[in-house]
Amino acid sequence: MCPEGTLVDESETLTVKRPSVHLHFELCKGCGRCVVSCPNGVLALSGAYNKLGYHAAKVEDLSACTGCGICFYACPEPGAITVYRKQK
Ligand code: SF4
Ligand code: SF4
Repeated sequence: MCPEGTLVDESETLTVKRPSVHLHFELCKGCGRCVVSCPNGVLALSGAYNKLGYHAAKVEDLSACTGCGICFYACPEPGAITVYRKQK
């Protein structure tokens, strides 16, 4: 279950009530590309270190996320960002 409560499981498929983004803290290398690429200021670099020793990115304002996916494509680390788009 998504910690933000935006996902519901229906007949083995995931549908999204509203767009959302999830950052995987321990996979991030703190490059900041997602932060500067997001057009809505959703993301920021954390002041805390992850296990790799980086200031990992975090979600600052989830309500502003449109699910555009720009941060996902900007991120060089596989699996560090998951974007949930609203189904039409
Ligand atoms: S999906 Fe788009 S709006 Fe949401 S955090 Fe990523 S770049 Fe920002
Ligand atoms: S682009 Fe990827 S690796 Fe870079 S700060 Fe964002 S989540 Fe971390």
